[in-house]
Amino acid sequence: MTHELITNISNFLADKKKNNLLRTIKEYIPLENSHVKVEHNKMINISSNDYLGFSFHEEVIQASMHAIGKYGVGACASRLVSGSFDLHKIVESKLARLKNRQACLLFSTGFQCNSTVIPALCNPKIASKSVLIISDKLIHASILHGIQASGKHVSHKRYNHNDMTHLARILEKYAQDFTTIIIISESVFSMDGDLAPLDELIKLKNTHKALLYIDEAHSTGVLGENGAGLCHNKDVDIIMGTLSKAFSSMGAYIVGSQALIDYLTNANTGFIYSTALSPAMLGAINKILDLLPTAEIQKRRENLQAKAHILRTSLQDLEINTSNSQSQIVPMIIGTAEDTLKWQEYFKNNNFIATAIRPPTVPQGGSRIRFALNSALKDQDLEELIHLIKAGMTNTSIINASITNTNKKGIL
Ligand SMILES: *Cc1c(COP(=O)(O)O)cnc(C)c1O
Repeated sequence: MTHELITNISNFLADKKKNNLLRTIKEYIPLENSHVKVEHNKMINISSNDYLGFSFHEEVIQASMHAIGKYGVGACASRLVSGSFDLHKIVESKLARLKNRQACLLFSTGFQCNSTVIPALCNPKIASKSVLIISDKLIHASILHGIQASGKHVSHKRYNHNDMTHLARILEKYAQDFTTIIIISESVFSMDGDLAPLDELIKLKNTHKALLYIDEAHSTGVLGENGAGLCHNKDVDIIMGTLSKAFSSMGAYIVGSQALIDYLTNANTGFIYSTALSPAMLGAINKILDLLPTAEIQKRRENLQAKAHILRTSLQDLEINTSNSQSQIVPMIIGTAEDTLKWQEYFKNNNFIATAIRPPTVPQGGSRIRFALNSALKDQDLEELIHLIKAGMTNTSIINASITNTNKKGIL
């Protein structure tokens, strides 16, 4: 007899499919300059987090291969057993310097980092017996996972996205009931590309003696002086970041005080019981850290933001909702999952990989194409993309209908 759980899985999948929310894995072959081969066609990828093109950077590839030659393919043990090499320490000290903090600890992925560091911070041995975490509503799934894994003594409240009045209200209402309060936000939001009001967050955390934890996945490498992100010169207690976005590799880190890093080394299960970051990744990351301040990469950073600006203003001229994007992430908010999938297909038919993002990654009714630009995108390809969007909007097509919500007839 089929177990109930297995039957429920079939129903779950059927339901997803019915609502245009089914996820399937497609195959891409990456090519240089942010191109990809899909189903034998060479396409332009504007849904990659390889913002600065480090994945195919010649010196980065050489450094990565060199590290494999020297250290082997894998670390083959956790850091505390026998998997910690000089290269881990070198990368950690460069990251700490970039972020202007005392110390750094590497993790294997950003998801692992957020989902295990937050519970470690809530450990009753260091936090109070009742902890309040207040987070932005749009935080990444890994942060939410960390909060939910933190234990029954942890309460969680969410403030409306970037709404400091709402955060202040929550703090005023609940702060006196908790001795430990942690505020969590991202500096650049992954699905909206907008920035957190860091100075206001810092003011509020100081007023209420809270700890401030900021995820810099999408700002590190790309924004701030030499790509240091947006927190290096600010009073943020704990900075988290990933090496999987602009660093084109894998891995993540926490930077903060030496005591914090020593504590996580001793108390963070995600660090203690997981294999150390691999030599291939370390070699690449180490080289990228050296390249970040160079003129070549500075030019790429400027180019990236200039392209994002052009795309954003073009979308806004067409009265398309781009949220409050101020970065290389430019959402084109469409609404329903069904319509967003049609746009994705339209882009694909015209040689662009521009991926639909649907609930639960984004709120209901907030389905969108998330453009994640890269510095290698050619001017004429950007022009072509904007032209395609205009054509999609001005044709009396289903695409037009999907945004204006008036005419549902006709198929592009
Ligand atoms: C991608 C991402 C993560 C997870 O990082 P991985 O290294 O991909 O596991 C965490 N936080 C944010 C904001 C992200 O965008």
